[in-house]
Amino acid sequence: MALITETYLRARLVSGIPNPFPLSEGDKLTPAAADFLKNRGIATTRLASDPVHLRESAKSGGLTMPVGVSNRHVHLSPEHVEALFGPGYSLTPLRELSQKGQFAAKETVTLVGPKGIIPHVRILGPSRGASQVEISRTDGFTLGIHPEVRLSGNIEGTPGITLVSEKAALVLQQGLIVAKNHVHMSPDDAERFQVVNGDSLIVQTLGDRPVLFADVIVRVNPKFSLDFHIDNDEANAAYLRTGDVVRVIGINGELTGSVRG
Ligand SMILES: [Zn+2]
Repeated sequence: MALITETYLRARLVSGIPNPFPLSEGDKLTPAAADFLKNRGIATTRLASDPVHLRESAKSGGLTMPVGVSNRHVHLSPEHVEALFGPGYSLTPLRELSQKGQFAAKETVTLVGPKGIIPHVRILGPSRGASQVEISRTDGFTLGIHPEVRLSGNIEGTPGITLVSEKAALVLQQGLIVAKNHVHMSPDDAERFQVVNGDSLIVQTLGDRPVLFADVIVRVNPKFSLDFHIDNDEANAAYLRTGDVVRVIGINGELTGSVRG
């Protein structure tokens, strides 16, 4: 139970406020906080009082999900695809990604920062509304730009970056982020995990170096398949690879399973 203030919500703007915003049993919004959400078109959702299902399944070994490690990549708006590759150009699918309809494109770009460059950075398709470049913190040191950790899509006020193709250069004014870890799930998976879109999971790795990810945002969509997305730095620190399995041991900050010693 908590009193949620506008100050608290403002502080959370940086990492992204989920929509709908989850409220636990007994949580109260101050009038200013309620206005704050309303003005941004963010709805609220009440969570069940106790994540009983999760607690029970955690006892019986826990719910697990596969890991997907995202290397640095670029999402482009249709206009920016044309700016980099020519009028009327569309991306060429190279291979499918774990999320339905998403693909790694044949096309790559070079990222150019004030301190250095990173060549051969994969573009992911299809093109989307706003261009976004996702790098690791380590990549940031190579480039000499240090973006914040943001949920994908939340790019307001983020730094820009220059992209270079074999044909053209394009200066993005904003859109460079270190992606916040998150899990994709279908509505069926969400029911199994007893979570709703915007919830946060506590995730434990099962390898030689047990690591807890304390705030993994849940994204629910009928098109999504279960996949826990982390970047290269997170994967390396936790000794994780794509296809490894991790265990969910808590929801919205509350542990529901035991932490392995
Ligand atoms: Zn993802």
